Formats: sequence, C-alpha cells, structure tokens
Amino acid sequence: MAKPPQGQQDFIRAIVSRDLDTHQFGGAVRTRFPPEPNGHLHIGHAKSLCVNFGIAGEFAGGRCNLRFDDTNPAKESSEYVESIREDVRWLGFDWEDRCFFASDYFERFHDYAVSLIKKGRAYVDSLSADDIRRHRGTLTEPGRDSPYRTRSVEENLRLFSHMRAGDFEEGAHVLRAKIDMASSNINLRDPTLYRIRRAPHHRTGAAWAIYPTYDFAHPLSDALEGITHSLCTLEFEDHRALYDWVLDECAVDCHSRQIEFARLNLTYTVMSKRKLTALVDEGHVSGWNDPRLPTLRGLRRRGYPPDAIRRFCEHIGVAKRDSVIDVRLLEHFVREELNARAPRVMAVLRPLRVVLTNYPDGDGEELPAVNNPEDPSMGARMVPFSRVLYIERDDFCDDPPPRYFRLAPGREVRLRYAYIIRCADVIRDERTGEIVELHCTYDPDTKSGSGGAVRKVKGTVHWVSAAHALEAEVRLFDHLFTVPDPDHDPEGREYRSLLNPNSLERLRGCRVEQALRDAAVGRRFQCERQGYFCVDDDSTGGQLVLNRIVALRDSWAKIAPGRSQETR
Ligand code: ATP
Ligand code: MG
Repeated sequence: MAKPPQGQQDFIRAIVSRDLDTHQFGGAVRTRFPPEPNGHLHIGHAKSLCVNFGIAGEFAGGRCNLRFDDTNPAKESSEYVESIREDVRWLGFDWEDRCFFASDYFERFHDYAVSLIKKGRAYVDSLSADDIRRHRGTLTEPGRDSPYRTRSVEENLRLFSHMRAGDFEEGAHVLRAKIDMASSNINLRDPTLYRIRRAPHHRTGAAWAIYPTYDFAHPLSDALEGITHSLCTLEFEDHRALYDWVLDECAVDCHSRQIEFARLNLTYTVMSKRKLTALVDEGHVSGWNDPRLPTLRGLRRRGYPPDAIRRFCEHIGVAKRDSVIDVRLLEHFVREELNARAPRVMAVLRPLRVVLTNYPDGDGEELPAVNNPEDPSMGARMVPFSRVLYIERDDFCDDPPPRYFRLAPGREVRLRYAYIIRCADVIRDERTGEIVELHCTYDPDTKSGSGGAVRKVKGTVHWVSAAHALEAEVRLFDHLFTVPDPDHDPEGREYRSLLNPNSLERLRGCRVEQALRDAAVGRRFQCERQGYFCVDDDSTGGQLVLNRIVALRDSWAKIAPGRSQETR
C-alpha cells in the first residue's frame, strides 16, 4: 500500500505506517470525524477534519467517515447536523456515502450492554448522582463500592429492561461498568455506561428512555464502522484505558487504536463550544456566523478561503503538547491565498473630495488598471476618471510630519493608474474649520503607462471618481479579545470581561469602484493599499456591505526601524 515518504511523517502518520507494515488492521486505514451535533464547527474542528480526512486520503484505499456522535438528546438538533455537513463540504472534504449517526447503533449498543450485564461486567446502580460522585474517591484516595454493585445478573437485567422501557425517572438508576473502584485511573472506577434521559431525540424521537455515555458509545461506534485509527484530542488520553476495556469486553471484531493529539488553540479568541455559545446567546456577537468568531460560519462570512484554512492546518501539523497558535499565522495563509487569486479594485473608506480645477468638466476618461499583478491572465479593466474624485482622508495631511510622502498643501502625489496632482487649496467649513475638499491641479503629461520620461513622485494614492463610484458600508474587524489567551488570563479575569469593545468598526459612506456593482455575496477582492475584502451577507440590491477579511500587512507587527509605511 502506498505511504507518504517517511521524512514528512508526524507521529500519527508514523503509527499508521507502522500498522500497515505489520498488517495490524489487514492493511486498511479508516478514520472518522465525530462531531457532536450540539454546536457549529470552529477552526479547531477544521484541524481535526484535516487530520482525519488528510490521513485517510494519503494512504491508498484510506477512508474517512463523517459520524455524528448524537448520544445526548438534550443539546443536539438536526439544525446542527445540517450546518456541520455544510461546513465540512465547504472546507472541501467528502464523506461520499459514509455519513453515519451513533443513534443508528442504539439497538446494538443496548445489546452489548446486556452482554456485559450477563458477563457480570456491568450493574445497575441506584445511588444518586451526588452519592456516586462521593463514592468515586479522588486522585489520592481510592473509591468505594456502591452497595448495589453486588446485584445479581437477573436483577440487573430486570432493572435495565425497565430503564429502557421508561419506567423510571431521570437519575433513578444508571448502568455502570464493573471494573475497579480502586484503580489509579479514575475513569476506570466503574464508569457510567447508560443514563436515563426523558428528552426526545432529534432522530429516534421517543424510542429511547436511556442513552449511552460517550465512553461507551464512542469505542463501539468505531468498532461497528471498522475504524482502524480513532484520532481524538488530548483530553481523551486518560479515557483510552476505558476505550480499550469496552472493546475487549464487548468482543468486537475490530479493535481500533485510539491516538490523541493536541487541540488547536488560537490567540485572541476562544474555542470552547460552551464559551462560543455564551457569546452568541448573550449577544456579544451577532450570531454563530459573526465574522469575528473562529467558527467556520464566521470565517466563511468574513471571507476566509477554505483552502487557506486547510493549508494553515497542514502547516501547523499535529503534536502531543497543547499550545496556542498565533492567529497571525492563519492570517498569513489567508493573505497568501488571496494575493494570488483576488482581483484588485480601488475603494476609499474615509472619503475626502478632490476637485481637479484644470481638468475638463464632463464624462472624463477611462484608464486601464491591472486586475492582479500576480496573475497576468486576470487581465485589466477600465476605471473611470473625472474632474471630481475621492481620495482617502488619511492620504492628505495639513501639516505633514517628516517622511510623509502623500498629499499635503503645495505637494504632489501620483493617483494610481492616472496622473500626478498637486494640492493648490484646502477648502474648509467656515464655522467648524473642518476640511471640506481639496482643490488640486493635475499634470496632463504624467499619465500612467503613457511612456516617455514621466516625472517621479514618492507617494501614490488610490482614488475613485465621485460621479462613478458606488457607496458601500465597510466593516473592519479587530481581535474579539484584548489579550492573547483569554482562557488563561494572568490576572484571573473572566473571558467575557476581556472582550475587545472595538472589535467591530462600521464605516458608512465609503466609495468603491463600480466594478463591484453586481458582485455576489462572498466575492473576494483586494482593495488596493487597504486589504482583502468580501461581500457580506447583509448586502442588498441597494446597499453594498463589505467585510475586511484581513489587512494587507500585519497591523499588529511593529514596523521595522528605518522602514516607513510610505513604502507600500
Ligand atoms: P464538546 O465539549 O461538546 O465535546 P468538542 O469541541 O470536543 O466539544 P466535538 O463535536 O466533540 O466538539 O468535536 C468533534 C471532533 O473535533 C472531536 O474529535 C474533537 O476532539 C475534535 N476537536 C474539537 N475541538 C478541537 C480543537 N480545538 N482542535 C482539534 N480538534 C478538535
Ligand atoms: Mg468532544
């Protein structure tokens, strides 16, 4: 069977290769991605998807299943099932005809549980949840046996069948594995296998009154699907002994190997479903697809290309130790992807009116502009130019500091793809003193691309023709949190108190090139000198709304000494 070259292997791929060499699983590689449909996927799940689908794809004949771990009806719904399927597809993964549900195996889980009872390996416990906890012991003290641990097989079978029939209230009984209350691994101190739950299940309705725990359902689901390598995150390391116990005691045909890897954490955000749910439910963000969230819906709406997310996940690889990855690395992959593919346009976010007093009135002219200098095959477009333009407010300075090469009174600047202009007059509001517009002159001999010995000036600025531009709302995003690791604040502050109040800035009255007139939701492009942008869902026929995906360069990095921003 084909294997990736040894040199590129991480520890999981090395184990899979070794298992193939030793014919451990009959030469098969089968993995699964097992989301619980109780929330939307985030970029941490993207890592797990890349690991599971990636490894299956690298070994000839490898397969990865999508499996919904839907064993807790209280929090799960088919709305999440659909959203997860959509997000997995969007990332570019294909489960083909292998989308499974743990709930499809409920009858078989139940039969395995009955077999454990018959073997004397499981019993019905009637202690309350609190008492069970009290009997469990601690890391330093062994647990104590429940008084119900010695129930006969017959009594256990009878009680378990009444549990299934719905004859008891929630919490009245549980089914527990009979392992070892003195085990140094607390997970082996007679863990719970089944609980009574009276909530309707999104797929099985009211058919079941008992539901298996993750620790029981997960290994059995893997076995029933013939999974060879069950890849999960580090918090399950201590559960591996129980995973193996369940598979050994249930005498299944396929005993999958559980391998744990570190979760993905990113700076300036949170990744726990509980915290993300709280941010959504408490209205700190606009919904699960808020472009500031690390959810796949949020990243998609923000405009992150799925390929960039996958490349990022491949780049960080898998490790055994938890760490927090700098979000700037993710942004780097987003920029790299968009730099190659996104068409360029000009957009003015904070417009300042410029009147070219010596330019003729009327329709103006059309000037050629390159669509993407990285990719000549993307061609060029014609950009309208006329007597009244907008430039960026920041590209003019009344009283310029040293090394300011943009427009200032009496100074010259080049308009990208157009002419050199000189600022002749600054027109102010008589009452407030605020700048209303600039009166400039253009030099007709300096047209871009016209050849000849055209004069050079240090600054080039972008612009749009006032009469031709479209109006847009632009949303700029900053980190959702003010500190790099809101889960572990050195001062012990709660994550919600660390939310960045300035994470969203909405600019209205921006002006963009008319090339965006019919741009569909989700279209991505670079606004020259501003960053990469994407047409937001909120856009309507009359109102264009743009999200800034990422700025052109990292605004958080210190500008290197000796290099000014003017060089861009
Ligand atoms: P829950 O607390 O509800 O279990 P979860 O984040 O583990 O939340 P699941 O739906 O159980 O969500 O996750 C599906 C798969 O994705 C699991 O195999 C899980 O280990 C993996 N996963 C979840 N979060 C991350 C993460 N941050 N990095 C890598 N893998 C993750
Ligand atoms: Mg989980």
